[in-house]
Amino acid sequence: MASAEAHSAHNYHPLPIVVASAEGAWMTDVEGRRYLDMLAGYSALNFGHGNRRLIDAAKAQLERVTLTSRAFHHDRFAEFCARLAELCGKDMVLPMNTGAEAVETAVKTARKWGYRVKGVPEGRAKIVVAAGNFHGRTTTIISFSTDEEARADYGPYTPGFEIVPYGDAAALRAAVTDDTVAVLIEPIQGEAGVLVPPPGYLAGVRELTRERGVLFIADEIQSGLGRTGRTFACEHEGVVPDVYLLGKALGGGVVPVSAVVADADVLGVFRPGEHGSTFGGNPLACAVGLEVVAMLSTGEFQARATELGDHLHAELNLLTGAGVVTEVRGRGLWAGVDIAPGHGTGREVSEKLMDRGVLVKDTHGATIRIAPPLVISKEDLDWGLDQLRAVLA
Ligand code: PLP
Repeated sequence: MASAEAHSAHNYHPLPIVVASAEGAWMTDVEGRRYLDMLAGYSALNFGHGNRRLIDAAKAQLERVTLTSRAFHHDRFAEFCARLAELCGKDMVLPMNTGAEAVETAVKTARKWGYRVKGVPEGRAKIVVAAGNFHGRTTTIISFSTDEEARADYGPYTPGFEIVPYGDAAALRAAVTDDTVAVLIEPIQGEAGVLVPPPGYLAGVRELTRERGVLFIADEIQSGLGRTGRTFACEHEGVVPDVYLLGKALGGGVVPVSAVVADADVLGVFRPGEHGSTFGGNPLACAVGLEVVAMLSTGEFQARATELGDHLHAELNLLTGAGVVTEVRGRGLWAGVDIAPGHGTGREVSEKLMDRGVLVKDTHGATIRIAPPLVISKEDLDWGLDQLRAVLA
């Protein structure tokens, strides 16, 4: 830890644990202590650490071919794109690597679509986003962040974005003008503290964007792929956006895989040379991503997230009743828990939980986020909740 402190930039403040290995929902540190992972790499590890199917798929691919660049076709690419498009009910996939790259790609897609298809005058395309958003760390993305910590000192900022309050349909309606090409939102705001918008909001966004000829881009990078009990969080309101942004769990916690998924009238705007990535859609990423899609296609993980999530929320709501927690938000196996004043900051609670062998992450001072791998057993989840009760008591 001292060496990391000396030789790596201090852009993170990790809990004082050094992980050496992990399996399922458990991690082991360099001294052999075991910890229950209730963060799951911010939902990148939905299928657990060292998931056998994903590791086997990766190993088999490692032995064959790992990188071709998109200068050539490779034999895992088409199948991955076709299966992922099918899972999303869309025509096409544009694979990238990290979540931020998928968001950047969506911004470029929406602008190009706006100029070429919608007929917005050159240089005028506007994208409406929500306050409290988290879409990644690139210069353009932090340009429309409302988090000063994420944004300060990185200007000049990219123009072309308008920020409206999250969950406010009237404000969104007022912001959408003739030059608007897209509304970009998280169906549940993860980094903001697992904020679920009011009922009807996502359906309202869908109705408005359809009515005004604007793309609805759903950033499902953290909320998607089983976490909330559905493949996509948008499904809870029966909503199908024009564009899905996927990442994190798409790479199974093994490799970075992200994607923009949409119909051909949207993703079809790209011509050769207009966008790309050396690693996007590489054979290893496609092999793992293909297995992820196959695992999600059975509905098994979504059902597990629903069942265990109902249990998690019922137990956490009892803590609200007991007065040690002020609010619990979330869906499925995903919760933002606001600690009541006098029961510690989010960081303090996270450190005390670590001492008891449970790993979570704090956010915004008084909140902790709980998002264990979807493969966690009910017994382990209950044990983790026991530790939380003990820390808050
Ligand atoms: N979008 C959302 C909703 C996220 O939660 C995140 C990461 O937390 C990102 C985008 C950025 O993903 P990455 O860190 O892979 O760039």
